[in-house]
Amino acid sequence: MEYCGQFNLKNHSTLRVGPLSAHAVYIDSKEDIEKALELAVKLNLTPYPLGGGSNTIFDDSAQNKFLFLIPRMRKMEIALEKNNRTLFYIEAGVLWDEAVAEAVELELSGLEALSSIPGLTGSAPVQNIGAYGAEVKDTIETVHAYDMQKKAFADFTKQACEFEYRNSTFKKNPGRYFIYAVTFSLSKARPSVPEYRDIISYFETKKIQEPSLKEIREAIIEIRNNKLPNPKETPNAGSYFKNPIISQAEADALKVKFPDMPIYPAREGFVKLFAGWLIDKAGLKNTMYGNFGIHKNHALVMIGNGQGTFSELLESEKNITQKVCDIFGVYLEREPVIVN
Ligand code: NAP
Repeated sequence: MEYCGQFNLKNHSTLRVGPLSAHAVYIDSKEDIEKALELAVKLNLTPYPLGGGSNTIFDDSAQNKFLFLIPRMRKMEIALEKNNRTLFYIEAGVLWDEAVAEAVELELSGLEALSSIPGLTGSAPVQNIGAYGAEVKDTIETVHAYDMQKKAFADFTKQACEFEYRNSTFKKNPGRYFIYAVTFSLSKARPSVPEYRDIISYFETKKIQEPSLKEIREAIIEIRNNKLPNPKETPNAGSYFKNPIISQAEADALKVKFPDMPIYPAREGFVKLFAGWLIDKAGLKNTMYGNFGIHKNHALVMIGNGQGTFSELLESEKNITQKVCDIFGVYLEREPVIVN
């Protein structure tokens, strides 16, 4: 464990919002968690586990937080091989995309559709990251955590994680659980190709009929890199809004007014809308509200210029959700977690 004193929290949020100083400690092993917790009590600060900061936005009041940083916990090992499945144990500090790359290298399928998503492995279950019809919950065997409230280690089965669309028990209880590793159940079977338009046309163009695991990963990396801004160059937190789920009846009424509106099936009687399409149609793509705004290529991505404050961000968010609501009667929900 290494106490690293006060440092700039803005540097630990890919949208570059947050107070200029907070206390932090590097966690090197699961045993360090209890030691760090003792230190937090001594300093009278609230512990908060932080991954890559790609889905976290700090309110200016987050100065009283004591951040537990995990990027040094980087072990990956095969835990068990059974029939067609392999259990793969990955510590929380491994970069998510490095974990995906390693699984693909070992010819294990299940994670490839989630290639190129920013953040660390420990953060993946928190918001149940998803892309191209896959969600991380589909591969999770166990989430290994420390319960800071009960002061005890706790392993979560997939069911106990209460996964939902971009949600989990970890997101619903911010700061309570420190995830130090995740065990994935991966498959040795042939991978299925996501039936998304971008991917289908990528393989059609390349004339590849039965893509390998590696080719699926390469396709997704290329498609994402062409569409999404790199947070190192343009501050952003990935998708800023969730895709709204509305009733079939509401969608039918909207379709009369907006016949080209994309609609995808959701649970029975409900459909999923594409939040990016609604924002684009509202004329907000490539629109800045002061220091924040909507990216020019992807309407789901809120970008910043590194100068904006938390309250300015909320103001921009309100302008966007209000305009979408005025036009479509649909309220957009924020995806990243606010820490205050
Ligand atoms: P896209 O392929 O342009 O599709 C637009 C939207 O339509 C997506 O939100 C997707 O919903 C939905 N969609 C498209 N084809 C679909 C199909 N065959 N079945 C069901 N739904 C379909 O989307 P994109 O913005 O380039 O993103 C591609 C994927 O990466 C999406 O799955 C998206 O969720 C994911 N992504 C995640 C993040 C993040 O930060 N978490 C950021 C960017 C993209 P879904 O979103 O439900 O798939």
